[in-house]
Amino acid sequence: MVDLRELYQQVVLDHNRSPRNFKQLPNANRTAEGTNPLCGDQITLYLVVTNDVIEDVGFQGAGCAISQASASLMTAAVKGKTKTEADALFHAFHAMVTGGPNGAIDEKALGKLAALSGVRQFPVRVKCANLPWHTLHEALAGSGDTVSTEEGGSDTPDDPDRR
Ligand code: ZN
Repeated sequence: MVDLRELYQQVVLDHNRSPRNFKQLPNANRTAEGTNPLCGDQITLYLVVTNDVIEDVGFQGAGCAISQASASLMTAAVKGKTKTEADALFHAFHAMVTGGPNGAIDEKALGKLAALSGVRQFPVRVKCANLPWHTLHEALAGSGDTVSTEEGGSDTPDDPDRR
């Protein structure tokens, strides 16, 4: 049994230092951008989707180690998967990082992604870890909009206080 906490540090360091699939795909037929204004994370995701299979995936971006490592891990995990399989991974990942410190981790479904469960100890970083997944969801849905982790009304600007 691996110590997930130790694995978390190793995996984040490794994927941040040498991100997998860090490239623009000139033949991408799906792209989406994601931002996490709370942390300043930004990623652009490129997908080649053929017959519901994610044949190739690449990303570019900048931001904290968690967001970039999560993007790197995600691209490695969803490459070659069907949209349905990628969606299942999205839900398993989301449940893991938002499930609280003692939530269940579906290690069998998540594989290497389970290493990111360590992010649950840092609630402010959960959005960083989720950003690439929300962006993937957007790219697969194909609306082409920029996604922000600040959905749900909290991204409205400060109400001007007129006097
Ligand atoms: Zn971040």
